Amino acid sequence: MAPSLDTKVSKAPAVEPASNQPASNLNEFDMIARYFAPLAGPEGLGLLDDAACFTAPKSCDLVISKDILVADTHFFADGDASDIAFKALSVNVSDLAAKGAVPLHYLLGLSLPKAIDADWLKGFAKGLSEAQATYGITLVGGDTTATQGPVTISITAIGSVNAGCMIKRSGARAGDDVYVSGTLGDAALGLQACNGVIPAATAFQARFDRPLARHTLGQSLVGIATAAADVSDGLLADLGHICKASGVGARVYEADLPVSDAGRLALANTPALKPQIWSGGDDYEILFTAPKEKATEIRQAAQKSGDTVHKIGQITAKKTVELVDPYGKLVQVDTKGYRHF
Ligand code: ADP
Ligand code: MG
Repeated sequence: MAPSLDTKVSKAPAVEPASNQPASNLNEFDMIARYFAPLAGPEGLGLLDDAACFTAPKSCDLVISKDILVADTHFFADGDASDIAFKALSVNVSDLAAKGAVPLHYLLGLSLPKAIDADWLKGFAKGLSEAQATYGITLVGGDTTATQGPVTISITAIGSVNAGCMIKRSGARAGDDVYVSGTLGDAALGLQACNGVIPAATAFQARFDRPLARHTLGQSLVGIATAAADVSDGLLADLGHICKASGVGARVYEADLPVSDAGRLALANTPALKPQIWSGGDDYEILFTAPKEKATEIRQAAQKSGDTVHKIGQITAKKTVELVDPYGKLVQVDTKGYRHF
């Protein structure tokens, strides 16, 4: 795509960059060749063509999703570049995971300030490489521009699922049980620790810096879950999205929400942060619904993928999302989650 403003990375002759040299001393094509082409699968044609090309797996639907991450909105601009890259790919794979899709390929859109240096790009490529190995996904293309704004990472993730089998948000039915994988609130507590509100703990710090998508679990929920979403906006907000799409409501129980040991300790010391468990974003767990009779299959699926899964409530016909405290009272909650606008 041709630039309409004078923001394209300059096309100065290629030089081997000193580690702290601004990336703008590298031309755009050298940057792609040096840092991104080694990450590309054969379908990316060496990142030398106008487009990638691949044959969709036989009898499969393609599942396609995009998430944009902006510096100082989704990650700290001065954070570790490899963590930033790992997180960017994880949050995209997480959407595929929630749909039951096998991760295949991704496209990487990058807008970089001209001050970005070679060290940052090297770290960024390393984080992508680590995430690719984790999820079995490869780079097949993208676009790179300079910007006067913050680092902006836009990834399009492509996965596959047996034809007609993608787990949608819209399949939940009254009487289904509601489940969530892993533990809730760790990433939000990690953010609170970054902001100095609570002491840091490795367990939840890692969840904020390098979230892991539950891709294997997601795939094993195909044919079992009636609806699913990943927890990115906060448990109740994302449950609200499933309920709205399905035309139902839900009732979940505070006492059944899974919290990590580090999370429990942090909340014991700072009880005011308790709502982070159900309203904090960035957990990237899978929230899903399934009929009661699927309980054994769900336990087996989680065992197979090495994940934990907890039943946290039920889908109801009443179109509201309710949180019940350990004394049976309704908790007043903000179900909106994070909104950019
Ligand atoms: P165009 O002529 O369409 O603008 P580009 O110069 O943007 O082509 O891209 C050249 C090649 O490099 C394409 O194959 C594109 O997919 C790839 N590419 C550009 N930026 C990236 C990136 N950030 N990550 C991966 N591939 C990229
Ligand atoms: Mg392009």
